[in-house]
Amino acid sequence: MSEKVPVAVLGATGAVGQKFITLLANHPWFEIASLAASERSAGQRYGDVVRWIDPYPLPPHIAQMEVQPCQPGIPGAIAFSSLDASVAGAIEADFAAQGAVVVTNARNYRMEQDVPLLIPEINPESLSLIPAQREGRGWKGFIVANPNCSTVVLAMALAPLHRAFGVERAFVATMQAASGAGYPGVPSLDLLGNVIPRVEGEEEKIERETQKILSARIALSVHTNRVAVVDGHTESISVGLISPATPEAAAQAIAAFRGLPEVERLPSAPCPPIVVQQAPDRPQPRLDAGLGNGMQVSVGRIRPCPILSLRFTALGHNTIRGAAGAAVLNAELLVARGLVPAHPPVRSAERGARSEHEHSSLRTPRSQLRTRGGDRGEA
Ligand code: NAP
Repeated sequence: MSEKVPVAVLGATGAVGQKFITLLANHPWFEIASLAASERSAGQRYGDVVRWIDPYPLPPHIAQMEVQPCQPGIPGAIAFSSLDASVAGAIEADFAAQGAVVVTNARNYRMEQDVPLLIPEINPESLSLIPAQREGRGWKGFIVANPNCSTVVLAMALAPLHRAFGVERAFVATMQAASGAGYPGVPSLDLLGNVIPRVEGEEEKIERETQKILSARIALSVHTNRVAVVDGHTESISVGLISPATPEAAAQAIAAFRGLPEVERLPSAPCPPIVVQQAPDRPQPRLDAGLGNGMQVSVGRIRPCPILSLRFTALGHNTIRGAAGAAVLNAELLVARGLVPAHPPVRSAERGARSEHEHSSLRTPRSQLRTRGGDRGEA
């Protein structure tokens, strides 16, 4: 690509907004053209209003940028949204109506029938919803959503098993990192030395979103827990399979799982997307959440289940694979497919920039996130 695609970050001062900045700072295809946040921040220098908590330094040229109000017309063909869900619905609709390609982390549009809830390795065909979305809503642009951060881990772990053996039911218990609740998030005296057996609204989201992504009526029983881990959501999963499978066959199916070759060549795509851990005490969030620049999901401890068919542990980085990194990968697929106006599809020869992009911005990140306090659920 001769020119990079200009992008806006909506909600740029927040925890996920900061992760977007880190991921986009050296991106081979994208260039940050504007940063937007609430009226509290608009009109001020980004470096003066942000409480930078990402483990990577704030790039000096980004610190100098003026924060814009979240109004359509700010520079950027793609608007990455990490807005609070209380305001995301109306703002994202305004941007899409005016022609922006909105790639969002917020929950508002995920379950809308005409909105792709996209994991490129699993359901790239969901992009076929876009023309109907634009026509039905009368928008010049469109919205593509990425799933809840726990949903991504579950859907990635189930997809290869569903393709190979059919998954008809699953029991899932999550152990979700503190960073998922933002900064300052859950008060330390509530969380340290403790497990909180509820993440508000999360169980229903994981159940519904997983079914939409896999296009399957899998019976799911999800239990969510907040634990005193910084980054990385761990999930204990038992699955009931339609065709029987040994742990070895399941491990083979998971290890062999790939997206479309096109998806595999996107700059942020991890290869392989899922790592099968061999050690009996892995995956662990501190050791494995950063794999593949935070984009790989880990699965381990695959073994027989006395109640369902198999049981195992899955893990993924909640703010990268579960949030900003997922959105960047989605946007890369949109560009590759020629769905970003005025930016032609990226030819396969130009997709080789991956090695450059395995960079700088994402080596085993250990983020502490910032929002406004309390466990407000995740997304
Ligand atoms: P956050 O830290 O609270 O950031 C929220 C952002 O929204 C800030 O930039 C804030 O700007 C902006 N904002 C708030 N009210 C606004 C308004 N009225 N108009 C315009 N901008 C406004 O939240 P977060 O943790 O980054 O999460 C962002 C989104 O991603 C949420 O929808 C969340 O559910 C979702 N998500 C979060 C995670 C996670 O791990 N944290 C994971 C997946 C998805 P100001 O600074 O100017 O107030």
